[in-house]
Amino acid sequence: MRTLFNGIKGLKVFKNEPLSAYTSLRIGGRARYLIKVYDEQALWEAMEIIKRRHLNYLVLGKGTNILFPDRGFDGVVIKLHGTFQRIEQKYNIFSCGGGVLIKDFVKQAQNSGYGGVEFLVGIPGTIGGAVKGNAGAFGKAISDVLTSVTIIGPDLRIRKIKRNEINFDYRKSDISDEEIIINAEFKLKKIKKQIIENKINEYLKIRREKQPRGFSAGSFFKNPRPLSAGRLIDECGLKGLRVGDAMVSKKHANFIINLGRARARDVLRLVKIIQNKVKALKGIELEPEVRIVK
Ligand SMILES: Cc1cc2nc3c(=O)[nH]c(=O)nc-3n(C[C@H](O)[C@H](O)[C@H](O)COP(=O)(O)OP(=O)(O)OC[C@H]3O[C@@H](n4cnc5c(N)ncnc54)[C@H](O)[C@@H]3O)c2cc1C
Repeated sequence: MRTLFNGIKGLKVFKNEPLSAYTSLRIGGRARYLIKVYDEQALWEAMEIIKRRHLNYLVLGKGTNILFPDRGFDGVVIKLHGTFQRIEQKYNIFSCGGGVLIKDFVKQAQNSGYGGVEFLVGIPGTIGGAVKGNAGAFGKAISDVLTSVTIIGPDLRIRKIKRNEINFDYRKSDISDEEIIINAEFKLKKIKKQIIENKINEYLKIRREKQPRGFSAGSFFKNPRPLSAGRLIDECGLKGLRVGDAMVSKKHANFIINLGRARARDVLRLVKIIQNKVKALKGIELEPEVRIVK
């Protein structure tokens, strides 16, 4: 296929690719380009073309915390593969490519007897997505164990940034949408394997009990701490509410489920209804945790 990325090694290019296939909500129109990038050189060359041509771009992990519009994305969606999916370990220091799946990181840590990341078990995304959104659960967040991040920015510079130079808060960081996390380093602790296994089993059990199955992006809204978004939505009587095939889960009110044929506009209409009702009845403004691409 002749494309503007022709000639770059370590790159696969897909034109007019349906984004619904790349997101856990199974929603989204087509991307003008979707590129799978296999090494740093290829990423740099692709970014150079993107910048020179002033194209929109967005890095996509596993697509488990994102809603693309029905009209798609008029630009380049970048996915990290190959060397970006490697984990290198030196004793208790784990260096993960931005495209590493969280579950692979947790598994490797567990197998080698290093703990501190058990709380991440069951989160279905990548390391890049998790660091960008400061993913967490059970009162802990990925920034607690992070020591540094390597990014490529819109200026095409590759920089290693120390953990304490980045601002993290509840489900957010100040890493911008234009920056691509290509690597993240973590410092873990040696812990008895049995203790790690017990914790993992306990967390998985809680997830199985609380979380609904089906196509979703996990919790749709941030918890307006100390309150729970799910409880507020439930108390407003919204469980089971539907717009088209988008439904507020009957099991966990902070999950919006795509029953099969939901469109982004259905989800967005449902989101508005939820926000308006919670505002009217509880006086609280719910803020989406999911990235809503315009
Ligand atoms: C069933 C279910 C359960 C979940 N449970 C939890 C939970 O307990 N806790 C929690 O925090 N989240 C949870 N999530 C949400 C989601 O899995 C996490 O936020 C995850 O970290 C997102 O990673 P991702 O790779 O899928 O990101 P994506 O959805 O692909 O992207 C999310 C954002 O991160 C950016 N991004 C992705 N990769 C990179 C990169 N390499 N560099 C820079 N930016 C990047 C994207 O541009 C986008 O802005 C859940 C989701 C589901 C479906």
